[in-house]
Amino acid sequence: MTRKTLTTDIRYLKGIGEKRRAVFHGLGIETIDDLVYYFPRRYEDRTHSTSIAKLKAGECQIIKGKVLGFGQRRSFRRRSFSIFEAIIDDGSGRLECVWFNQPYLKQYFKRGEEVVLYGKVEPHGTSLQMQNPEYEITAEKPPQESLNYGRIVPVYSSAEKLSQRMFRRIIKTCMDEYVPSLVDVVPYDIRERHHLLNIASSIVNMHFPHDAPTQALAYKRILFEEGFLLQLLFGLKRLKKNRMIGIKHSLCLESLNSFEKSLSFTLTSSQRSVIEEIKQDMVSGRQMQRLLQGDVGSGKTIVAVYACLIAVSSGFQAAFMVPTELLAQQHFGVISQQLSAFSLKGRTLTPALLTSSLRKKEKEKIYAEVEKGGIDILIGTHAIIQENLIFKKLGLAVIDEQHKFGVHQRLSLLAKGINPDCLIMTATPIPRTLAMTIYSDLDISTMRELPAGRKPVETYCVDESKRQWVYDFIRDHLSAGRQAYIVYPLIDESENMEVKAASVMYEGLKDVFHDFSVGLIHGRLKQSQRDSIMESFKNAQIDILVSTVVIEVGIDIPNAAVMVIEQAERFGLSQLHQLRGRIGRGSFSSFCILISATQDSESLKRLQVMVEESDGFVIAERDLALRGPGEFFGVRQHGIPEMRLNPLENLELLNTAKEEASRLLEKDALLSSRQNAALAEALKTRFPEYERLMEAG
Ligand code: ADP
Ligand code: MG
Repeated sequence: MTRKTLTTDIRYLKGIGEKRRAVFHGLGIETIDDLVYYFPRRYEDRTHSTSIAKLKAGECQIIKGKVLGFGQRRSFRRRSFSIFEAIIDDGSGRLECVWFNQPYLKQYFKRGEEVVLYGKVEPHGTSLQMQNPEYEITAEKPPQESLNYGRIVPVYSSAEKLSQRMFRRIIKTCMDEYVPSLVDVVPYDIRERHHLLNIASSIVNMHFPHDAPTQALAYKRILFEEGFLLQLLFGLKRLKKNRMIGIKHSLCLESLNSFEKSLSFTLTSSQRSVIEEIKQDMVSGRQMQRLLQGDVGSGKTIVAVYACLIAVSSGFQAAFMVPTELLAQQHFGVISQQLSAFSLKGRTLTPALLTSSLRKKEKEKIYAEVEKGGIDILIGTHAIIQENLIFKKLGLAVIDEQHKFGVHQRLSLLAKGINPDCLIMTATPIPRTLAMTIYSDLDISTMRELPAGRKPVETYCVDESKRQWVYDFIRDHLSAGRQAYIVYPLIDESENMEVKAASVMYEGLKDVFHDFSVGLIHGRLKQSQRDSIMESFKNAQIDILVSTVVIEVGIDIPNAAVMVIEQAERFGLSQLHQLRGRIGRGSFSSFCILISATQDSESLKRLQVMVEESDGFVIAERDLALRGPGEFFGVRQHGIPEMRLNPLENLELLNTAKEEASRLLEKDALLSSRQNAALAEALKTRFPEYERLMEAG
């Protein structure tokens, strides 16, 4: 028999065959480790049963009794189905229980047998009834051993193909066979100091809690572990960073200065000081790993272009990765134009655009050129990290709107060069203390200043009753020559629905604004269609652009001065702020109207923040205060590795974890001691970048 370890495939677990294995794969569970950490979505307290005489309608309850009788019949309503009925008697009364379409139940029930049933009690005529209850024949299993009754019972998010009972049974097997051999990666002294449960009992209590307080302790312990591992990773990165050998770029000041002169604006002092920081990073022999936070419209792009020019003028290539095709195109357009005025010792630079919608031929042509070194600055979407794209000499990687990318994508891009410098940009500002905790492996630059002459966008929040007023408002501005966006939220996470809602509204709006031109853009359109719509909007051939969130990031059209956001309560504050950043980019007064029918006071409070504040940092801080860090950062966002529990849920605990992580690294910076072997192993399995980090010397 093979020893079961963390990474053992779940198919070696009793009760899992090919079919169930596939179901588990569908849930992202491949190894025993995955399964152990697949925590319940919620729990049901099934500790106590209720006597039949005391049952209450409308509540889920447990009864214990004897089967008095049972039978099966068919219903002949519109669609015929089978009904299995049983009468249960517990001495205090009798209850009818029914199951639909489960004819096989008759094999399980025997008259006079003890059963336990759990389900919702509904009124039925003048009495009560339990419908489709979960059941257990007590003769088969003494109650104290049941996974389904007489305890706090876990409920898993599971594919439909796996019942909760089966899920519990498999988890239990896993607990019995595997958990005893779990090695605790959090050192004993740390556990002692912070009163943390050991890992085995935490895992068991996460799945089958002894009681609610113990579950809370188990949760805290695992949350700590997540934070601790994350902070170790960050700590290691920080240690390495200082030693990370990078490219020593040289500055061609003459070219840079003449480039600056050719710009149609003068740089803000924020831009200048960030450019200065970047220059210093790039000429040092250390790898630059800089995060640039700057509010929407603060002018991050030109800062990135500067960095690209430094890389190119010292003989390297630069890659500029953005999350959407629209944005890639816009950047490409702007950058091409800016570069046309730039010359490096008499040579003009060659930018190129790479997106996945290019034809194969065009792509191959770009691949070949990039590999030859014929392209200086490659701007593009995820297409840039395709495996078969090879740079001749990548010296700088820029990642725009980095919260749209994961760490792996960042690393894949960096892997295309030899320790290239890296600049990542975000318009979702993060309060500084938090940024230091989360991005402790990065240097952070912040631009709080907007270019001069920007007028803050005036924002209103209205309900449905003002719709006509909103339309009149839009009309006035269109008549004055402006353009407008009307934005629809993502509905039910389904792109189809989203597109449909926007399309329906679009038809209606075409009637309302029949004397103007209305366009519709959404993620389902072909790239070429989206391009031509954006182009028409840019050229003011379209007056109103109805849109789903595809316009969210980066798009720059100064004449658009009005934005209406429908069902605004469905957006997060940072998203609203991003959206609103699309307007107020020209010299016109701009207006943002949030339409919302919500009555929810939390939602209204959030919308009110948008009305009152225009500074992205302030909005971020208020968002953080309203939602707490756990929700503020979806774990997946912000390039934080995927965690099992979100360590940001409890900042205090995360900070403790950070302190302990630094203390540990002070003693054993390479995690090479014997007592830290399990920890090193855990980091290796959890974070793919760990090994690369340690190899980097
Ligand atoms: P973001 O930080 O949101 O990415 P962009 O780089 O897209 O902002 O810049 C927004 C707009 O401001 C662009 O049209 C850009 O040309 C312009 N811009 C950038 N810097 C300045 C500046 N110093 N003065 C005036 N306009 C500027
Ligand atoms: Mg931008």
